[in-house]
Amino acid sequence: MDLLNQRILQDGQCLPGGILKVDSFINHQLDPDLMMQLAQEIARTYADRPLNKILTIEASGIAPALFVGYLMHLPVVFIKKAKPSTMDGMFTTTVHSFTKGTDSTVCVSKNFLTATDRVLFIDDFLANGHAAQAAIDLCHQASAHIEAMAFLIEKAFQNGGDYLRAQGIDYTAIATVKSLDNGAIELA
Ligand code: 5GP
Repeated sequence: MDLLNQRILQDGQCLPGGILKVDSFINHQLDPDLMMQLAQEIARTYADRPLNKILTIEASGIAPALFVGYLMHLPVVFIKKAKPSTMDGMFTTTVHSFTKGTDSTVCVSKNFLTATDRVLFIDDFLANGHAAQAAIDLCHQASAHIEAMAFLIEKAFQNGGDYLRAQGIDYTAIATVKSLDNGAIELA
């Protein structure tokens, strides 16, 4: 979508290590008008799918996921990063954070991810695919089916897209960053 491409070029910043900083409209301050338009695009793309749940991972996936859930009239479940006091009743897995460089345990309640679920997973970025991999693992544990995944921004110079294609996961990204080399944002 041109709107997101334009906004990335206007307000995005390249940080060292292949990180695109978009905290003025996605990751810290949020632009609800832009987010709703992105959500409309995702909802249109997956309108004909037999979905019954939106799944995301906290924190930055929640805003787009909530708007898509609102538009599609579907419940939104977010994978939690805080370790619960008891693991009873939770599916858990580990996820490597690209931006923080740390591994952490994430979890989702067995009440909210079940074998009857047909899931659309939504996140802000697809980088190396670790967050997506955690979602796949949790859905596998729950015997839930992943219909598709939708990202706001894919960084095509990282491995996440290859990983999802190898897993046979159908996914889309609204904007695709080809390169952040030499401090310049190059979009597809
Ligand atoms: P992955 O798990 O695909 O390696 O990375 C995806 C997660 O890391 C996203 O949930 C996102 O929050 C964060 N992330 C990855 N790359 C970037 C980036 O370039 N900029 C920002 N702001 N977040 C990123």
